[in-house]
Amino acid sequence: MITLNQVKPLMNNRDILLQCAETYGSPLYVYDADRMRAQYERLHQAFDVQDLKLNYACKALTNINVLRLFQGLGAGLDTVSIQEVELGLRAGYAPEDIIYTPNCVSIAEIEKAISKGVHINIDNLEMLEHFGVHYGNRLPICVRINPHVMAGGNRKISVGHIDSKFGISIHQLPHILRLKDTLNLNITGLHMHTGSDILDANVFLFAADILLNQIDSFPDLKSIDFGSGFKVPYKQDDVCTDIEDFGKKISERFNQVCEEQGRRLTLMFEPGKYLVSESGYFLATVNVIKRTTSTVFAGMDTGLNHLIRPMFYDAYHHIVNLSNPDGHDKIYTVVGYICETDTFGWNRKINEIKIGDVLCFKNAGAYCHAMASNYNSRYRPAEVMIDGGKHRLIRRRETLDDLLSTQVFDN
Ligand SMILES: *Cc1c(COP(=O)(O)O)cnc(C)c1O
Repeated sequence: MITLNQVKPLMNNRDILLQCAETYGSPLYVYDADRMRAQYERLHQAFDVQDLKLNYACKALTNINVLRLFQGLGAGLDTVSIQEVELGLRAGYAPEDIIYTPNCVSIAEIEKAISKGVHINIDNLEMLEHFGVHYGNRLPICVRINPHVMAGGNRKISVGHIDSKFGISIHQLPHILRLKDTLNLNITGLHMHTGSDILDANVFLFAADILLNQIDSFPDLKSIDFGSGFKVPYKQDDVCTDIEDFGKKISERFNQVCEEQGRRLTLMFEPGKYLVSESGYFLATVNVIKRTTSTVFAGMDTGLNHLIRPMFYDAYHHIVNLSNPDGHDKIYTVVGYICETDTFGWNRKINEIKIGDVLCFKNAGAYCHAMASNYNSRYRPAEVMIDGGKHRLIRRRETLDDLLSTQVFDN
């Protein structure tokens, strides 16, 4: 087993990153398999409970090779669409290791997931009633509760607030219980996911307690799923979740409640960002250096079509010049080639950039390639996995034929 301390950041090995850019072209996503494994092990070790299951929230990075890597470590899979369910099954996950947590999808889509045998997590009362009427107690279901505790972070990624569309409000618990009793529902799981950025274990515990205080009312319960929100550092000195402290506090509380109630439950989490963010590096090449009256732009061979987080969430991605690590620091505004405002970073201190230099964006594992598009009819980047010091292609770059493959037209 590898621990996090033993995994050196790939940044310390610029050569292999540059070699990847040379071999597979630019722009390019590169992932470090050792880092993914180490993050999984560290999170797993942070909890001290009898039964623990970590389900990889695969919307963060959906390459099937990544799904397989976590399956090999014993993870389950957290999915939010029927397509992710199908990817998970194709990757080799057993249906019972897949949780399907959709929001605002059709009944037909949920029926399809049920037919695949995966766990269904229901997040509105109408659906709960519908499935109760049709399946009674034959369908084990998990209920997504919204405890309305703000875990902090950006409002776009915070899903616990009172007017959030996610989950069934904790204030509607009496209604859930009425449905459970009249329709004989088989509720085997309680779930919450308050959004990103757990900084204070006590705030999280407060939300967790809201679920734990209800287990009395759910005799069929097998698991409690506390979602995710583990924060990783994006900048030096960034405050992030103290996983060991968090794990200790949650485990103590969880064990205490299970003991008091004489129940044996599985503790579940569904991390996305924590498992893959830091394993990813996005490499792109500088096409243009442009001095204006206000700043110096470095214009890249990529844009918000490949990495939308800075424009979408004001996300910070640290940018390093791989080609000139010893150059003088200069100030640049790093921008993309898309025909709209398309800025990756304002006034960044970066080692002097020349045209043709390869820049590297850090924290590019989660919600980066997964959110890439073909806007401006650009191809989505290739993806490479580095494992045991060796690199291999895990997604080829697209071609014009890929762009046209779904269009219907006369040749
Ligand atoms: C997105 C999502 C996650 C993962 O969140 P991270 O912040 O990436 O860890 C977990 N659970 C659900 C239901 C989600 O929608």
